[in-house]
Amino acid sequence: MTETAESFIAKSTIKSADLEHRRKINFNIAKYNAVVPVGKTQFTNVMLARERAKNAKWRALETLDQQLEEFEMQFTRRGGKVIWAETTESALEAIGKICKEKSCTTVVKSKSMVSEEIHLNSFLEKNGIESVETDLGEYIQQLDGEPPYHIVTPAMHKSKEDVARLFAEKLGTPDNLTPEELTLVARDKMRMKYTSAQVGITGANFILADIGAIAITENEGNARLSCAFPKTHIVVAGIEKVLPAATDLGLFWPLLSTYGTGQKVTVYNTIVTGPKQEGETDGPDEMYVILLDNGRTNLLKTETREALYCIRCGACLNACPVYKNIGGHSYEVTYSGPIGSIITPQMKDMEDYKHLSNASSLCGNCTEVCPVRINLHELLLKNRHEAVENGISSFGERMAWKLWKQASLNRKMMNMGSGKLKNMVTNKIFTAWTAHHGKLAFSPKTFNQMWEERKGH
Ligand code: SF4
Repeated sequence: MTETAESFIAKSTIKSADLEHRRKINFNIAKYNAVVPVGKTQFTNVMLARERAKNAKWRALETLDQQLEEFEMQFTRRGGKVIWAETTESALEAIGKICKEKSCTTVVKSKSMVSEEIHLNSFLEKNGIESVETDLGEYIQQLDGEPPYHIVTPAMHKSKEDVARLFAEKLGTPDNLTPEELTLVARDKMRMKYTSAQVGITGANFILADIGAIAITENEGNARLSCAFPKTHIVVAGIEKVLPAATDLGLFWPLLSTYGTGQKVTVYNTIVTGPKQEGETDGPDEMYVILLDNGRTNLLKTETREALYCIRCGACLNACPVYKNIGGHSYEVTYSGPIGSIITPQMKDMEDYKHLSNASSLCGNCTEVCPVRINLHELLLKNRHEAVENGISSFGERMAWKLWKQASLNRKMMNMGSGKLKNMVTNKIFTAWTAHHGKLAFSPKTFNQMWEERKGH
């Protein structure tokens, strides 16, 4: 077993026994579950909308090269600059170079999972640049020195009392502040940073090819401030975020808000088309978009490419019985839950992360809730299949399945011995299974015995 798999099993074993953790997660997911049906009421046919969204993403990904080039052409026309980054290192190098050129000491950053993926904050810190998370959830996590717990709600595992205690400890506020008071404290701290930061860094929910723009969806307005105040705006976006046309947003904005937070529309939806133009009063002097590959083209060439349709709404995490028990941090990767368990082994390393694809009951709840109809549970199976095909499985695992297959294909063997005996033998052999699952339980009678009995009636 790899070190990553061992650590995952150890962390998830502890977390799944933590009832207080489960209570907080269930409380927050119950709130989410209560509002999603409200968001859905805006669609006359929600399934049709989801199918259309899937088709749009299929089109975008099938013509990804053309879409990205179209974006680059349109965006650079208005003075924006595009940087193609193949790896984490090249993205960080580009950001470091821009920050150096601007003599940057402070960066304001809005929520972006891609920046988590490339570990941007620690890179900036190492280079002596203060990076301030401006999304409240991310700010809380940054104060606590923890990565985000969930792709939409970074501090989902914390109760309001936990946050009040954290603020008291780190910022010296009274430890009984209400959520509104805590928000005001965070806002006060951040507002000063917007005006002093030289660089603002955001992600992009969508890259709009036809008009050469990026679209950002948020509820707090912090992303708008992060790109409007500083003189330089850097966007880091995965290449799969592309949509062929700005009009596609008519479908994707309501789907993202409904499945992400149960809102009919997210509070702030911003389209940014480039740096400040002549005669305009707002906006940065310079704007860069870093198009990040970082393993996405590996995914594109596999049968699991459909995972690139993901719009990061987080619905599959909220629906997953495994996620709800082990929580986001046990995965120890940027993207957790069902979607993370599919893309991580493909984007990083199958051997190190294949265990994530096995951490699923394959109940299909994720597929059921995905707004872009990704066949998530089937893709998890495809990953498992690929790992076995490539010989990335232990000797014990291979032997166990060989034995199981031979026995199942042999009627005489299946009819041998009583149910009790079979239980005893198999539970001794399949210890890797029984360590984390219920014991195997054979029927007291064989299929043939039951068949004969039935025929006798
Ligand atoms: S896979 Fe689907 S449900 Fe999961 S985060 Fe992506 S879009 Fe949302």
